[in-house]
Amino acid sequence: LPGVPNVAVFDTAFHQTMGPEAYLYGVPHRLYDEYGVRRYGFHGTSHKYVSQRAAAMLGKNIEDVKIITCHLGNGCSLAAVKNGKSIDTSMGFTPLAGVMMGTRSGSIDPSVISFLIEQHGYTIEQVDELLNKKSGVLGISGISSDFRDIEDAAYKEKVHRAQLALDIFHYKVRTTIGSYAAAMGGVDAIVFTAGVGENGPETREEILKGLEFLGVKCDTEANKVRGKVREISTADSSVKAFIIPTNEELMIARDTLELISK
Ligand code: AMP
Repeated sequence: LPGVPNVAVFDTAFHQTMGPEAYLYGVPHRLYDEYGVRRYGFHGTSHKYVSQRAAAMLGKNIEDVKIITCHLGNGCSLAAVKNGKSIDTSMGFTPLAGVMMGTRSGSIDPSVISFLIEQHGYTIEQVDELLNKKSGVLGISGISSDFRDIEDAAYKEKVHRAQLALDIFHYKVRTTIGSYAAAMGGVDAIVFTAGVGENGPETREEILKGLEFLGVKCDTEANKVRGKVREISTADSSVKAFIIPTNEELMIARDTLELISK
């Protein structure tokens, strides 16, 4: 198609506004200079879309609000979006970092890797497979990476390690939200999106339950919904909580239009 503009929208692009204090690792600076070792973040298109939508639901300009977006699907990441810009996000150099996910470990002490290699004869490929494909809620529960299976096992069959997997997951997401409130000096809204975020009332409630100190109160009745745009915080909640189904295709189309209009 000669003469037709081609646009690539990178999933890392939205996080390019992070400052060096957020994107650099505490390793020799030459690893960044020479190899580009830094945190990039992912799910940027989704975080951008839902944060813009949340600002509209707050009835405020995106430039005046602090939003924490939780993209919780098979892959999970959170972002601190201050005045429309991503200032921190939980995934890093690769999507393995951050909160525990369906099959990914999330952040762990990197020394576990050398321990497994040196003391237990693992190869680097085996460690890679272990952390990316056999960890997360699958690794803890030993049942499944699908939250529906884990929730059934935990809530209906009372399987201890399924409950443990959920407890760890909720804890990681909750503490990441707390750290992002600290990063932004407050928060106006918390947004849930992607497979689990949109469809998991128990997950949302359990995460929000420990965050009352921030001023967010979950409206249990409003929260009993799947896959719909909805406010799920109570009227007197000073921090709002929303379910916003993500729409990466629409965001890509908008970004494309903006680029080719220039
Ligand atoms: P995604 O990667 O965004 O497609 O999300 C996939 C995850 O969403 C899987 O772990 C599913 O278990 C979860 N999911 C999808 N539908 C539901 C549901 N109705 N209830 C709970 N989790 C769901």
